[in-house]
Amino acid sequence: MPRPALSACGNQSETVGGRIGIVSIGPYSVDEFVERVVDFHGYAAPGVIIGGYMVALAQRNLTQGVLYDAVSETRACLPDAIQLLTPCTVGNGWLKVLNLGRYALSLYDKRSGEGVRVHLDGKRLDAWPAIKVWFLCLNKKQDQDSALLQEQIREAGEGLCVVAPIRIAARFLGKQHKEKVDFCPMCGEAYPTCDGRICKGCQGQAPYEPLPSTLGAINNYLKM
Ligand SMILES: [Zn+2]
Repeated sequence: MPRPALSACGNQSETVGGRIGIVSIGPYSVDEFVERVVDFHGYAAPGVIIGGYMVALAQRNLTQGVLYDAVSETRACLPDAIQLLTPCTVGNGWLKVLNLGRYALSLYDKRSGEGVRVHLDGKRLDAWPAIKVWFLCLNKKQDQDSALLQEQIREAGEGLCVVAPIRIAARFLGKQHKEKVDFCPMCGEAYPTCDGRICKGCQGQAPYEPLPSTLGAINNYLKM
């Protein structure tokens, strides 16, 4: 399948009540993007909406016409903003999710590794107290004023974001080579043999409670 290059998605802005406000996120109006977030993510998560501004800002700062990959430095929210606004998904491998616990993302030329990283500027949060409370988890979720939070996100937009050039380390670039695959003698399913004699699922890393019948079989196998 031909891979689409990311296009420049210039955010449109207009003056609202004397303030310059961003009224688009990538190809969508802010309202349309929030609808897409609800459809895809399940609800209008503040983290995905801010993530939309972050992705659009990164896109506008990229060299156009080359193929880009993406990195999210958190598992929460940002992967969904990236998947909504770019061709990069977890499933196609063009989006890598690293659990660094930082609310930041990068888009980069998949060959050279050069690109941009976007994160939120903690110093600017004081101007947006509802966003600060949400971002630093200073309130219980039920005590958060979500209408005020949504309003402040729209007013702040990408004004909270810092964009900086980055280069991805060589070990994160390029295609992952396929490992040798065989069938697991326990469950009978295919797995990469570099994982060991049995698949990781049967080694106890599956999230399921073992049923008494399969537990006995695993124990017998491991004693062999
Ligand atoms: Zn198995």
